[in-house]
Amino acid sequence: MTEPRPTSPFELRDPGQAREFASLLRRHAPPDPVRIVHVCGTHEMAIAQHGLRSLLPEGVEVLEGPGCPVCVTPTVDLDRAVKLALGGVIVCTFGDMTRVPGTRVTLAEARAHGADVRVVLSPSDAAEIARQNPGRRVVFFAVGFETTAPGTAAVLLDSPPENFLVLASHKLIPPALAALVAEPPVRIAAFLAPGHVSTIIGAGAYRPVAERYRVPIVVAGFEPLDILYAIALVLRQLREGRAEVENAYPRAVTEEGNRRAQELLAQAFEPSDAVWRGIGTIPGSGLRIRPELSRWDATHELPVAAEEGEDKPAGCLCSEVLLARAVPADCPLFRASCTPLSPVGPCMVGSEGACNVWYRYGGRPDL
Ligand code: SF4
Repeated sequence: MTEPRPTSPFELRDPGQAREFASLLRRHAPPDPVRIVHVCGTHEMAIAQHGLRSLLPEGVEVLEGPGCPVCVTPTVDLDRAVKLALGGVIVCTFGDMTRVPGTRVTLAEARAHGADVRVVLSPSDAAEIARQNPGRRVVFFAVGFETTAPGTAAVLLDSPPENFLVLASHKLIPPALAALVAEPPVRIAAFLAPGHVSTIIGAGAYRPVAERYRVPIVVAGFEPLDILYAIALVLRQLREGRAEVENAYPRAVTEEGNRRAQELLAQAFEPSDAVWRGIGTIPGSGLRIRPELSRWDATHELPVAAEEGEDKPAGCLCSEVLLARAVPADCPLFRASCTPLSPVGPCMVGSEGACNVWYRYGGRPDL
């Protein structure tokens, strides 16, 4: 393939290069329909905002899977956070998490009933709130993938205040890719791997999944041409019958990833099975706080009975959207009773959720 390689932000948005990539994609279009799945809300925003689906050849679909951390946080963890907040604990978390429907209420609704729920930008902000409130327990409700988990690990390993606790609900991407591709009935032809997660874990972390399931995985950046280039590499692999890991984002991602961040993760957490909202339990896809740090583990220090939360509101197709078996427009509630101002399911709450992104930018423009 002799396509031009993007090298700078200016070139990455160059319309002429985009047209060249589009014609390259058409030339390499596979004879049969293929479904390529990415697992990244930032990818979905770039694809939708720049109308990239309009450049894809007939039969090539690119869908978002479980790439929105807010969307995949299970109700059982959300309900725990709500119970802690209603029980008098200060609960700190990222903004979107406060609006996600739990079994009964959201964290924002709990706050309206008097609970002390605070939005923070980082786990260290939550630790600071703990320092400022020595007489109160402060729980950081930690969500997100390998990109945000090292920040939580760094705070846990930095002797946080005794009244600081972490309710850990972090998730890992490679086990999710394995679960998706192993799950019939929808055949996933290839994955675009998220660039920011890959800066931490490295492109090599996907190799076991690519080899075991014979599925191409291409690490992609976030500029429009990054994504088109990664799709071109996917189509070339499919045409040549290869199933390999390729790195289309070498200006940020290495084969090994960020060793220091990986060390922090290994020192603070151990892998565990984890429930993904709308999907179920995925083996080895979560991070549990290591026993030697259990004094800062909310599940250890402040156990609350977990409810069997309702993961799927009536009529909501989030499960199918998260499994890349449906797109938001397939849901009868989309743009009708479900909007960002009154979300029915989690995919409409998070700014990286597929339904939220499609609501703001449209999903499949016909340009
Ligand atoms: S539009 Fe709303 S109800 Fe439908 S799948 Fe998306 S979040 Fe669920």
